[in-house]
Amino acid sequence: MKKHNFSAGPCILPQEVLKQASEAVLNFNDLNLSLIEVSHRSADFVKVMDQARSLVLELLDLENKGYSALFLGGGASLEFLMTPYNLMKENGSAAYLDTGAWSSKALKEAKLLGEVEVVASSKDKNYNYIPKNFSIPAGVDYLHLTSNNTIYGTQIKEFPKTDALLVCDMSSDIFSRKLDFTQFDLIYAGAQKNMGPAGTTLVVVKDDILGKTGRKIPSMLDYQIHISKDSMFNTPPVFPVYVSMLTLQWLKNMGGIDAIEKINIAKAELIYNEIDNNPLFEGAAVKQDRSNMNVTFLLKDESKKERFDQMWKDAGISGINGHRSVGGYRASIYNAMPIESIQVLVDIMHKL
Ligand SMILES: *Cc1c(COP(=O)(O)O)cnc(C)c1O
Repeated sequence: MKKHNFSAGPCILPQEVLKQASEAVLNFNDLNLSLIEVSHRSADFVKVMDQARSLVLELLDLENKGYSALFLGGGASLEFLMTPYNLMKENGSAAYLDTGAWSSKALKEAKLLGEVEVVASSKDKNYNYIPKNFSIPAGVDYLHLTSNNTIYGTQIKEFPKTDALLVCDMSSDIFSRKLDFTQFDLIYAGAQKNMGPAGTTLVVVKDDILGKTGRKIPSMLDYQIHISKDSMFNTPPVFPVYVSMLTLQWLKNMGGIDAIEKINIAKAELIYNEIDNNPLFEGAAVKQDRSNMNVTFLLKDESKKERFDQMWKDAGISGINGHRSVGGYRASIYNAMPIESIQVLVDIMHKL
């Protein structure tokens, strides 16, 4: 039997997507060729890439609004560097909100290219909350945020208004909730948290913000080059792009972000209610900043740990150990996680 997969990433994908993807690995579009052995310039694959990019803009409601979608290599971690390369002026500066390990890694790369102002940090409490009411220095080239902090289980609910360009790492909550995506100038997300296999990163960028830094940008790091080549400047990660396209199609068929957001809220309420009402458990993140994607919680009575661990293992649950920097447990409940699997976990917490 398939396990209840609570892994933080790479993570659960819709079962029907896995089935379609595995079929295409053997025989893609009835070509009697594998998806991963045809030219990325073939008409069949070009269609996949075009469809993936247009589904992104459609689902985010960014069609015909001056945005481009790209599927790049290098992981979200390469975007930590590409963002300043493309947006930070020579001798410029950028503001970063430090909400965890991923934000810290992002700002470290930006420091290679210019001045970085950390506008606020929640490091003092091991990143268990989202700092608010910080001020953004005038004249910065952009403000960088991490919308969902995968490790700590926190999520930004309200995004600051700013005159600076707004850049957001949405690796672990993209396509999970309704937002006005036009408030962002650049969004990036590693595929492996909510969209597809590891190996591709989605970038959504407003075209008219590019080409203004006065900086020489290496070709592979230059968003304008990738846009001009329709995300095919070099061989794209064909399999991750294909699976991402299938997942986006699955999401569209179920009613898009509006529909999945309702389900995600119900899923999160189910498990947070148990955490709050069960005296054996406590949430790791402050309530108002809790993530609807990564639910972090602690067992208050260590003597029950062995029993609890055995119970969830016996029930076919996988991937709920917390990140080493937080401890306890982390249930990642991304888009493809069925509410039935969460119910299995909640029943065990209840019985403990
Ligand atoms: C996982 C993760 C990353 C890193 O992604 P890679 O694709 O491994 O580089 C960056 N940001 C966030 C928020 C993440 O969850």
